[in-house]
Amino acid sequence: MDKKALHVITFSLAMVGALNWGLVGLFDFNLVEALLGSGSGLARLVYIVVGVSAVYVFATHKNDCKICGEMMAKK
Ligand SMILES: [Zn+2]
Repeated sequence: MDKKALHVITFSLAMVGALNWGLVGLFDFNLVEALLGSGSGLARLVYIVVGVSAVYVFATHKNDCKICGEMMAKK
């Protein structure tokens, strides 16, 4: 898989996880569990994939993001 595709996929998944948390906080509604079943193995898999994606985005962000890249380079 090329880096661009990996970036788009992991970024999207991390955002899905963040939005799901927002929904839980605002409306007490868990979209992932509503779609895949509360506490199901599939919901758990989504959480794991989202977590791994977040780690990837966090680790590569300063290379991909102009703003963070510049900030880190100055310090
Ligand atoms: Zn950034």
